[in-house]
Amino acid sequence: MPQQDLRLDKLRQLYDLYDTFMAKTDLVCHKGCATCCTCNVTITSLELDYIKATLGSGTAESPRERVEKRLAGKRFQPKTTINGFARLCMEGSEIPEEENDPAWGECPLLLNNTCTIYPARPFGCRSLVSQEDCSRSGVATLSPLVLTVNNLFMQYIEQMDCNGISGNLSDMILTGSSPSLSTGIVTISNQAVPVLMVPPEHREQVGPLLQDMAGICNG
Ligand code: SF4
Repeated sequence: MPQQDLRLDKLRQLYDLYDTFMAKTDLVCHKGCATCCTCNVTITSLELDYIKATLGSGTAESPRERVEKRLAGKRFQPKTTINGFARLCMEGSEIPEEENDPAWGECPLLLNNTCTIYPARPFGCRSLVSQEDCSRSGVATLSPLVLTVNNLFMQYIEQMDCNGISGNLSDMILTGSSPSLSTGIVTISNQAVPVLMVPPEHREQVGPLLQDMAGICNG
């Protein structure tokens, strides 16, 4: 199998592993609820390749066309990745302040409360789930264990693409566009895992999952 296909297949396996884990978690999310589909979702370059490979050219309007028409002026543009964050914490360095507000607008890929790339959506979207109805408060509720698991998947997904880049979903889709569209685009470099972010109280519970993740990434 070509190297890139292998990497995309490993990413798919990580997504499947996450789905299997989350199937054991009580969630209130359902089709048509798009409270969490804001313009602030982030993605890695490998995940963008996964979207392109999964959707092909058969969609009526491509993700790039949608973003070009509906780009939010203000959107979350991360200053550090999850592995960059882990490295700063490990070194005791200052963590850059990040601005993120759901009121900045909905995701440009949302149409009639439905995701137009749902089967290929990135992990940032897959992990936007809630154990309580967030449609009123706008805030998702997740157990500390699920938050730990989400962080671990994000760390491994970045690790698999450690020579790539990350950024806001819209920015990443527009990377390489004409200068008029690519003005203001921000992307950041991915990093290898410096240390896995597992609190002591979750070490035993996430042990088997960590073995499965490592098996996929190193296999
Ligand atoms: S890509 Fe899809 S799932 Fe993700 S925020 Fe946009 S509409 Fe929602």
